[in-house]
Amino acid sequence: MSTRRKFLQASVLGSAAILTDEKVLAGTGKRKNTIDQPVVVSTWDFGKTANIAAWEILNKKGRAVDAVEAGVRVPEADPDNQTIGYGGMPDRDGYVTLDACIMDEFYNCGSVMALQHIVHPISVARLVMEKTPHIVLAGDGALQFALANGFKKENLLTPESEKAWKEWLKEAKYEPEINIENRLYDKDKDPMPGGPDNHDTIGMLAMDAKGNLGGACTTSGMAFKMHGRVGDSPIIGAGLYVDNEIGAATSSGVGEEVIRIVGSHLVVELMRQGYKPEAACKEAVQRIIKRSPEKSKKIQVGFVALNKKGEYGAYALQKGFSYSVRSNAVEKVFRSKSIY
Ligand code: ASP
Repeated sequence: MSTRRKFLQASVLGSAAILTDEKVLAGTGKRKNTIDQPVVVSTWDFGKTANIAAWEILNKKGRAVDAVEAGVRVPEADPDNQTIGYGGMPDRDGYVTLDACIMDEFYNCGSVMALQHIVHPISVARLVMEKTPHIVLAGDGALQFALANGFKKENLLTPESEKAWKEWLKEAKYEPEINIENRLYDKDKDPMPGGPDNHDTIGMLAMDAKGNLGGACTTSGMAFKMHGRVGDSPIIGAGLYVDNEIGAATSSGVGEEVIRIVGSHLVVELMRQGYKPEAACKEAVQRIIKRSPEKSKKIQVGFVALNKKGEYGAYALQKGFSYSVRSNAVEKVFRSKSIY
Protein backbone atom coordinates (compact mmCIF):
# COMPACT_ATOMS: atom_id res chain seq x y z
CA MET A 1 0.00 0.00 0.00
CA SER A 2 1.38 3.42 -0.85
CA THR A 3 2.36 5.66 2.03
CA ARG A 4 -0.20 8.17 0.89
CA ARG A 5 -2.97 5.60 0.83
CA LYS A 6 -1.98 4.39 4.28
CA PHE A 7 -2.01 7.95 5.50
CA LEU A 8 -5.45 8.59 4.06
CA GLN A 9 -6.74 5.35 5.53
CA ALA A 10 -5.40 6.37 8.91
CA SER A 11 -7.00 9.76 8.68
CA VAL A 12 -10.33 8.24 7.78
CA LEU A 13 -10.26 5.86 10.73
CA GLY A 14 -11.19 8.53 13.21
CA SER A 15 -11.33 8.56 16.99
CA ALA A 16 -14.18 6.90 18.80
CA ALA A 17 -15.32 10.29 19.85
CA ILE A 18 -14.22 13.42 18.11
CA LEU A 19 -15.12 16.46 20.07
CA THR A 20 -13.09 18.99 18.22
CA ASP A 21 -14.41 21.13 15.48
CA GLU A 22 -13.63 24.35 13.72
CA LYS A 23 -16.58 26.61 13.34
CA VAL A 24 -16.83 29.66 11.15
CA LEU A 25 -17.81 32.60 13.32
CA ALA A 26 -20.97 34.04 11.85
CA GLY A 27 -20.34 36.97 9.59
CA THR A 28 -16.61 37.28 10.31
CA GLY A 29 -15.25 34.54 8.11
CA LYS A 30 -12.82 33.80 10.97
CA ARG A 31 -12.43 30.27 12.25
CA LYS A 32 -12.72 29.64 15.95
CA ASN A 33 -11.10 26.59 17.41
CA THR A 34 -13.64 24.80 19.58
CA ILE A 35 -11.43 22.14 21.11
CA ASP A 36 -13.21 20.53 24.04
CA GLN A 37 -10.58 21.15 26.68
CA PRO A 38 -9.70 20.39 29.34
CA VAL A 39 -10.12 16.66 28.91
CA VAL A 40 -8.94 13.57 30.77
CA VAL A 41 -8.82 10.05 29.37
CA SER A 42 -7.92 6.92 31.32
CA THR A 43 -7.81 3.17 30.90
CA TRP A 44 -10.61 0.84 31.97
CA ASP A 45 -13.96 1.43 33.67
CA PHE A 46 -12.36 2.30 36.99
CA GLY A 47 -10.79 5.25 35.22
CA LYS A 48 -14.16 6.94 35.55
CA THR A 49 -13.75 7.43 39.31
CA ALA A 50 -10.12 8.42 38.92
CA ASN A 51 -11.13 10.99 36.29
CA ILE A 52 -13.32 12.77 38.86
CA ALA A 53 -10.27 13.63 40.97
CA ALA A 54 -8.35 14.72 37.87
CA TRP A 55 -11.29 16.80 36.68
CA GLU A 56 -11.42 18.77 39.92
CA ILE A 57 -7.97 20.10 39.10
CA LEU A 58 -8.50 20.54 35.36
CA ASN A 59 -11.77 22.36 35.92
CA LYS A 60 -9.99 24.91 38.10
CA LYS A 61 -7.51 25.53 35.28
CA GLY A 62 -4.89 23.38 37.00
CA ARG A 63 -1.96 21.74 35.26
CA ALA A 64 -2.42 18.43 33.42
CA VAL A 65 0.45 16.80 35.31
CA ASP A 66 -1.16 17.69 38.66
CA ALA A 67 -4.48 16.33 37.45
CA VAL A 68 -3.14 12.96 36.34
CA GLU A 69 -1.19 12.50 39.56
CA ALA A 70 -4.29 13.23 41.65
CA GLY A 71 -6.42 11.05 39.39
CA VAL A 72 -4.38 7.85 39.55
CA ARG A 73 -3.91 8.18 43.30
CA VAL A 74 -7.57 7.17 43.61
CA PRO A 75 -7.20 3.54 42.45
CA GLU A 76 -3.76 3.38 44.09
CA ALA A 77 -5.42 3.81 47.49
CA ASP A 78 -8.37 1.54 46.77
CA PRO A 79 -7.93 -1.88 48.44
CA ASP A 80 -10.65 -3.36 46.23
CA ASN A 81 -8.62 -2.67 43.12
CA GLN A 82 -6.29 -5.68 43.02
CA THR A 83 -4.20 -4.48 40.11
CA ILE A 84 -2.94 -1.13 41.36
CA GLY A 85 -1.27 0.16 44.54
CA TYR A 86 -2.59 -0.88 47.95
CA GLY A 87 -4.33 -4.26 47.64
CA GLY A 88 -2.50 -5.09 44.39
CA MET A 89 -1.75 -8.75 43.70
CA PRO A 90 1.68 -9.87 44.90
CA ASP A 91 4.41 -11.51 42.91
CA ARG A 92 5.15 -15.26 43.10
CA ASP A 93 6.98 -14.77 46.38
CA GLY A 94 4.17 -12.82 48.00
CA TYR A 95 5.63 -9.32 47.65
CA VAL A 96 3.52 -6.46 46.31
CA THR A 97 5.86 -4.56 44.00
CA LEU A 98 4.61 -1.46 42.24
CA ASP A 99 5.58 0.27 38.98
CA ALA A 100 4.64 3.85 38.06
CA CYS A 101 5.69 6.76 35.90
CA ILE A 102 4.64 10.32 35.16
CA MET A 103 5.42 12.81 32.39
CA ASP A 104 4.69 16.52 31.93
CA GLU A 105 4.48 18.93 29.03
CA PHE A 106 8.23 19.63 29.00
CA TYR A 107 9.41 16.01 28.51
CA ASN A 108 10.17 15.91 32.25
CA CYS A 109 9.57 12.41 33.50
CA GLY A 110 9.97 10.28 36.59
CA SER A 111 9.57 6.59 37.28
CA VAL A 112 9.73 4.02 40.04
CA MET A 113 10.10 0.32 39.44
CA ALA A 114 9.47 -2.62 41.76
CA LEU A 115 8.75 -0.29 44.66
CA GLN A 116 7.41 -1.94 47.82
CA HIS A 117 5.48 -0.66 50.85
CA ILE A 118 4.35 2.69 49.43
CA VAL A 119 0.66 3.28 48.67
CA HIS A 120 1.29 6.05 46.12
CA PRO A 121 4.14 5.13 43.79
CA ILE A 122 2.96 7.81 41.33
CA SER A 123 3.81 10.54 43.83
CA VAL A 124 7.24 9.01 44.40
CA ALA A 125 7.74 8.99 40.62
CA ARG A 126 6.78 12.65 40.55
CA LEU A 127 9.38 13.44 43.19
CA VAL A 128 12.01 11.50 41.26
CA MET A 129 11.13 13.78 38.34
CA GLU A 130 11.30 16.97 40.36
CA LYS A 131 13.91 16.38 43.04
CA THR A 132 16.56 14.18 41.50
CA PRO A 133 18.83 14.40 38.46
CA HIS A 134 17.53 10.95 37.46
CA ILE A 135 14.46 9.55 35.74
CA VAL A 136 14.18 6.08 37.24
CA LEU A 137 14.67 4.73 40.76
CA ALA A 138 14.16 1.02 41.37
CA GLY A 139 13.63 -1.40 44.23
CA ASP A 140 15.28 -0.62 47.57
CA GLY A 141 16.70 2.65 46.28
CA ALA A 142 13.24 3.85 45.34
CA LEU A 143 11.93 2.87 48.77
CA GLN A 144 14.82 4.60 50.52
CA PHE A 145 14.11 7.76 48.49
CA ALA A 146 10.39 7.59 49.30
CA LEU A 147 11.02 7.18 53.03
CA ALA A 148 13.53 10.02 53.02
CA ASN A 149 10.82 12.20 51.50
CA GLY A 150 8.22 11.50 54.12
CA PHE A 151 6.27 8.61 52.62
CA LYS A 152 5.07 6.04 55.14
CA LYS A 153 6.09 2.38 55.00
CA GLU A 154 2.97 0.21 54.86
CA ASN A 155 1.92 -3.35 54.29
CA LEU A 156 0.24 -3.37 50.88
CA LEU A 157 -0.81 -7.02 50.91
CA THR A 158 -4.49 -7.16 51.81
CA PRO A 159 -6.07 -10.38 53.13
CA GLU A 160 -7.95 -10.77 49.81
CA SER A 161 -4.83 -10.57 47.68
CA GLU A 162 -2.92 -12.82 50.09
CA LYS A 163 -5.71 -15.38 49.80
CA ALA A 164 -5.59 -15.24 45.98
CA TRP A 165 -1.81 -15.70 46.07
CA LYS A 166 -2.04 -18.70 48.44
CA GLU A 167 -4.64 -20.21 46.15
CA TRP A 168 -2.31 -19.70 43.21
CA LEU A 169 0.57 -21.28 45.14
CA LYS A 170 -1.28 -24.60 45.39
CA GLU A 171 -0.82 -25.20 41.67
CA ALA A 172 2.04 -22.90 40.85
CA LYS A 173 5.11 -24.35 39.33
CA TYR A 174 7.90 -21.99 40.20
CA GLU A 175 9.41 -21.88 36.74
CA PRO A 176 10.42 -18.67 35.02
CA GLU A 177 9.14 -19.97 31.66
CA ILE A 178 5.56 -20.20 32.84
CA ASN A 179 3.44 -17.96 30.74
CA ILE A 180 1.53 -16.28 33.49
CA GLU A 181 -0.97 -14.49 31.33
CA ASN A 182 -2.01 -17.74 29.64
CA ARG A 183 -2.45 -19.44 32.98
CA LEU A 184 -4.66 -16.63 34.15
CA TYR A 185 -6.77 -16.69 31.05
CA ASP A 186 -9.44 -19.35 31.12
CA LYS A 187 -11.68 -18.78 28.13
CA ASP A 188 -14.67 -20.54 29.68
CA LYS A 189 -14.56 -18.61 32.92
CA ASP A 190 -13.25 -15.30 31.70
CA PRO A 191 -14.61 -13.85 28.47
CA MET A 192 -12.27 -10.91 28.83
CA PRO A 193 -8.63 -12.01 28.61
CA GLY A 194 -6.58 -9.46 30.39
CA GLY A 195 -9.73 -8.18 32.01
CA PRO A 196 -10.27 -6.86 35.50
CA ASP A 197 -9.65 -10.21 37.13
CA ASN A 198 -6.23 -10.64 35.67
CA HIS A 199 -4.08 -7.60 35.21
CA ASP A 200 -5.02 -3.99 34.66
CA THR A 201 -3.16 -0.77 34.90
CA ILE A 202 -4.40 2.76 35.13
CA GLY A 203 -2.90 4.95 32.46
CA MET A 204 -4.23 8.51 32.47
CA LEU A 205 -3.74 11.28 29.91
CA ALA A 206 -4.93 14.85 30.27
CA MET A 207 -4.97 18.13 28.38
CA ASP A 208 -5.43 21.16 30.59
CA ALA A 209 -7.14 24.50 29.95
CA LYS A 210 -3.91 25.89 28.49
CA GLY A 211 -3.74 22.97 26.06
CA ASN A 212 -0.76 21.35 27.79
CA LEU A 213 -0.55 17.58 28.17
CA GLY A 214 0.43 15.29 31.03
CA GLY A 215 0.29 11.57 31.68
CA ALA A 216 0.59 9.05 34.49
CA CYS A 217 0.65 5.28 34.65
CA THR A 218 0.62 3.05 37.75
CA THR A 219 0.20 -0.68 38.42
CA SER A 220 1.03 -3.65 40.60
CA GLY A 221 1.89 -5.40 37.34
CA MET A 222 1.09 -8.94 36.32
CA ALA A 223 -0.23 -10.98 39.22
CA PHE A 224 2.24 -13.59 40.48
CA LYS A 225 5.04 -12.29 38.25
CA MET A 226 8.63 -13.27 39.02
CA HIS A 227 10.08 -11.25 41.88
CA GLY A 228 11.85 -8.26 40.34
CA ARG A 229 9.88 -8.35 37.09
CA VAL A 230 9.15 -4.90 35.69
CA GLY A 231 6.49 -4.39 33.05
CA ASP A 232 5.82 -1.66 30.53
CA SER A 233 3.99 0.68 32.90
CA PRO A 234 6.98 2.54 34.47
CA ILE A 235 8.98 2.57 31.23
CA ILE A 236 8.82 5.93 29.49
CA GLY A 237 7.88 5.27 25.88
CA ALA A 238 6.42 1.83 26.58
CA GLY A 239 3.60 2.26 29.13
CA LEU A 240 3.37 6.04 28.76
CA TYR A 241 4.56 8.81 26.50
CA VAL A 242 3.71 12.49 26.34
CA ASP A 243 4.85 14.84 23.59
CA ASN A 244 3.30 18.23 24.12
CA GLU A 245 3.53 19.04 20.39
CA ILE A 246 1.60 15.99 19.27
CA GLY A 247 -0.26 14.02 21.91
CA ALA A 248 0.04 11.34 24.56
CA ALA A 249 -0.53 7.60 24.83
CA THR A 250 -0.64 4.88 27.45
CA SER A 251 -1.19 1.15 27.61
CA SER A 252 -2.53 -1.73 29.63
CA GLY A 253 -2.07 -5.45 29.16
CA VAL A 254 0.87 -7.80 28.87
CA GLY A 255 3.76 -5.42 29.36
CA GLU A 256 6.41 -7.56 27.69
CA GLU A 257 4.64 -7.17 24.34
CA VAL A 258 4.31 -3.41 24.80
CA ILE A 259 7.99 -2.97 25.71
CA ARG A 260 9.10 -4.81 22.57
CA ILE A 261 7.43 -2.27 20.31
CA VAL A 262 7.93 0.74 22.64
CA GLY A 263 4.18 1.00 22.29
CA SER A 264 3.15 4.39 23.68
CA HIS A 265 5.98 6.19 21.90
CA LEU A 266 4.99 4.40 18.70
CA VAL A 267 1.40 5.59 19.06
CA VAL A 268 2.54 9.20 19.55
CA GLU A 269 4.88 9.00 16.55
CA LEU A 270 2.06 7.62 14.41
CA MET A 271 -0.08 10.57 15.47
CA ARG A 272 2.79 12.83 14.40
CA GLN A 273 2.51 11.25 10.95
CA GLY A 274 -1.17 12.18 10.81
CA TYR A 275 -2.89 9.15 12.29
CA LYS A 276 -5.94 9.84 14.43
CA PRO A 277 -5.67 8.47 18.01
CA GLU A 278 -7.74 5.34 17.36
CA ALA A 279 -5.94 4.55 14.10
CA ALA A 280 -2.54 5.03 15.80
CA CYS A 281 -3.54 2.65 18.61
CA LYS A 282 -4.76 0.10 16.06
CA GLU A 283 -1.48 0.25 14.15
CA ALA A 284 0.48 -0.37 17.38
CA VAL A 285 -1.72 -3.34 18.24
CA GLN A 286 -1.14 -4.72 14.74
CA ARG A 287 2.60 -4.43 15.28
CA ILE A 288 2.19 -6.84 18.23
CA ILE A 289 0.22 -9.27 16.09
CA LYS A 290 2.84 -9.15 13.35
CA ARG A 291 5.55 -10.29 15.75
CA SER A 292 3.62 -13.10 17.33
CA PRO A 293 0.32 -13.88 15.59
CA GLU A 294 -0.42 -16.97 17.68
CA LYS A 295 0.44 -15.50 21.07
CA SER A 296 -1.47 -12.32 20.31
CA LYS A 297 -4.71 -14.34 20.23
CA LYS A 298 -4.30 -15.34 23.88
CA ILE A 299 -3.26 -12.12 25.54
CA GLN A 300 -4.64 -8.64 26.01
CA VAL A 301 -2.96 -5.34 25.15
CA GLY A 302 -4.82 -2.07 24.77
CA PHE A 303 -3.66 1.44 23.96
CA VAL A 304 -5.38 4.77 24.63
CA ALA A 305 -4.32 8.03 22.99
CA LEU A 306 -5.13 11.73 23.15
CA ASN A 307 -3.94 14.31 20.63
CA LYS A 308 -3.44 18.06 20.82
CA LYS A 309 -6.84 18.67 19.26
CA GLY A 310 -8.47 16.93 22.20
CA GLU A 311 -9.35 13.89 20.07
CA TYR A 312 -9.03 10.54 21.76
CA GLY A 313 -9.32 6.91 20.88
CA ALA A 314 -8.24 3.39 21.79
CA TYR A 315 -7.65 -0.03 20.30
CA ALA A 316 -7.02 -3.45 21.83
CA LEU A 317 -6.14 -6.98 20.85
CA GLN A 318 -9.17 -8.51 22.57
CA LYS A 319 -12.67 -7.43 23.31
CA GLY A 320 -13.29 -6.07 26.78
CA PHE A 321 -10.85 -3.17 26.89
CA SER A 322 -12.45 0.11 27.91
CA TYR A 323 -11.49 3.70 28.58
CA SER A 324 -13.08 6.53 30.52
CA VAL A 325 -13.35 10.13 29.39
CA ARG A 326 -14.24 13.34 31.21
CA SER A 327 -14.50 16.77 29.59
CA ASN A 328 -16.98 19.62 29.57
CA ALA A 329 -18.93 17.80 26.87
CA VAL A 330 -18.72 14.19 27.98
CA GLU A 331 -18.40 11.88 30.97
CA LYS A 332 -18.45 8.36 29.66
CA VAL A 333 -16.87 4.91 29.60
CA PHE A 334 -16.21 3.80 26.02
CA ARG A 335 -15.80 0.20 24.84
CA SER A 336 -12.64 -0.01 22.80
CA LYS A 337 -12.63 -1.61 19.37
CA SER A 338 -10.46 -4.67 19.09
CA ILE A 339 -8.84 -6.92 16.53
CA TYR A 340 -10.22 -10.25 17.79
N1 ASP B 1 0.90 -3.57 31.77
C1 ASP B 1 0.97 -4.12 33.10
C2 ASP B 1 2.21 -4.93 33.23
O1 ASP B 1 2.61 -5.59 32.31
C3 ASP B 1 -0.18 -4.94 33.48
C4 ASP B 1 -1.52 -4.54 32.93
O2 ASP B 1 -1.75 -3.48 32.47
O3 ASP B 1 -2.42 -5.33 32.94
O4 ASP B 1 2.76 -4.97 34.31
